[in-house]
Amino acid sequence: MTLILALDFGGTKLAAGIAHLGSREWLRYERRLSPANVDAKTDLEIMRSLIYSLLQGITPSVIGVSFGGPVDATTGTVRLSHHVAGWENIPLKELLEAEFGIPASVDNDANVAALGEYRFGAGQGCHSLFYITVSTGVGGGWILNGKPWRGTSGMAGEIGHMVVDPNGPVCLCGKRGCVERLASGPYMAQNVREILENVDVQAASRRVPQRHRQASVLRGFPPLKQLARHRGGEVLRGLVGDNLQLLTGQLVSQAAADGDDLAKEVLYQAAWALGVGIGNVANLMNPQRFILGGGVTKAGEIFWQGLRKVARETALPEVTFEIVPAALGDEAPLWGAVALAESLLTMK
Ligand SMILES: [Zn+2]
Repeated sequence: MTLILALDFGGTKLAAGIAHLGSREWLRYERRLSPANVDAKTDLEIMRSLIYSLLQGITPSVIGVSFGGPVDATTGTVRLSHHVAGWENIPLKELLEAEFGIPASVDNDANVAALGEYRFGAGQGCHSLFYITVSTGVGGGWILNGKPWRGTSGMAGEIGHMVVDPNGPVCLCGKRGCVERLASGPYMAQNVREILENVDVQAASRRVPQRHRQASVLRGFPPLKQLARHRGGEVLRGLVGDNLQLLTGQLVSQAAADGDDLAKEVLYQAAWALGVGIGNVANLMNPQRFILGGGVTKAGEIFWQGLRKVARETALPEVTFEIVPAALGDEAPLWGAVALAESLLTMK
């Protein structure tokens, strides 16, 4: 029986699994959280120990790898990691092949997750799809005519840094109003935090609220008119008390579901940004299906309804598409790694 070894180097966790070719269940599986301030060397050591603990008595034929950062998939070299230092130009495919003596294939997590959803999840039977993960960052991966499309430099699918509001807040990439700047979990939390801090400052100084100061955080959106009245925030404060640093994207979603107006506006804005991005991508490429995974997509109906409405309004009426939740959840990269390894077998 052919065995496949699948590896997932996530930003915060490492996971490894072994499955029989064609099986949808792990024969063996292990995961470990990355320690804080970890570097590439430690990540690799932890992964090696996971692999050796899985391998006892069995020999896989191929290795598939999902890596949480840009990868040159043709050579299997990691370009860098945004979360873990020291990954610059690490020849991961080469290292694995040298150590384990079997072929390996390495790609970035969004491309791999797209492949996973296509083979085993919400993209089955669909020849063109765009997978989007919305969590600490926003990334995307293409399947076109049943195959991954990586682009010339392996950078295709970067919907996270598509500008949807040129006058919006500054993103970590240096541009303004990127999808990721408005829709990722940490940035949603930051947006809420800045508005609440502003309200605190104003309350403390007993000045008349300066609307433009709040508007400077999130400008350019219809929902701002409501934000300017700074309603809401009570549920959010109830969740974190005085410590606004504890705010997360997940808490924003939770507060929105509990009816907090400020949380609802910020969540709607995230859905708006993503919806505009998806509508534009639909116009440009006309894929059959958009598949959305990642923590933020668990935000509930406010998010999904807003997203679908805005995407529909942004795309031309003739451009048809569906937007569906991912089916594989957190395991999309690992099952995608299985699919990636399978493609090595068929190439043989
Ligand atoms: Zn950006």
